[in-house]
Amino acid sequence: MRELNAKIILLGEATVGKSSIILQYFENRFEENIPNTIGTAFLTKNIERNDTSLKMNVWDTCGQERFMAIASIYYKDANVILLVIDCTNEKSLEQAEKYLEEIHSNASSNCTLVLLVNKVDLLPGYREGQEVDERLKGKCDFYEKIKKFKSKNNFDAMFWISAKDGTGVKDIFDFVANGALNGQIRIAESGSKTNARRLLAQSITHRNSNKSQGGCC
Ligand code: GDP
Ligand code: MG
Repeated sequence: MRELNAKIILLGEATVGKSSIILQYFENRFEENIPNTIGTAFLTKNIERNDTSLKMNVWDTCGQERFMAIASIYYKDANVILLVIDCTNEKSLEQAEKYLEEIHSNASSNCTLVLLVNKVDLLPGYREGQEVDERLKGKCDFYEKIKKFKSKNNFDAMFWISAKDGTGVKDIFDFVANGALNGQIRIAESGSKTNARRLLAQSITHRNSNKSQGGCC
């Protein structure tokens, strides 16, 4: 069986909903307050299709974005970067622009870049289960800026989502899984043992560096 090991990371300003997206995807639930301290370095989901097994390792920042710029070791070898903004907070778009500059200078050029616009449930007139169409997106105060940001920066995809009720969340990871399995998202075949060791080493470094910055994880 062919084994693929994908590193998928979430980046974005504190409070945009990164941990909530992970919680919704892995556990189908939402919490008003997720303490930073329960952040895990990464969670894994395995998907098997035909002769291929895909391991999706989804990384959270464990709150380190609150203290400093994200360490480049976190995203340097990512296969997929999910850059998250909050549609009710224009500052989160400005922060995303800064992250993007860092990503362009540090991440692999093969990396797939996805823009996530979270908290659509807070847009005026939203009803759960309704399609997130152009009219609803237009209710976001900085919709035109988001569109410009998307077209200027070569994103591979964009999703308007709600980590609260789950709208669009599964679509993100389906996009990633399908892309990885059909070869559109570049992922080196593992050497899974070497890869697992590398991931573990990174996870330990990540935890240690967090400890020295205020003890999250
Ligand atoms: P992180 O700092 O990026 O990991 O953000 P969190 O996942 O901790 O979320 C920050 C706050 O926003 C929490 O109070 C969440 O409950 C809330 N939140 C996250 N996603 C959504 C969403 O889609 N809709 C709403 N209404 N609130 C959300
Ligand atoms: Mg978080």
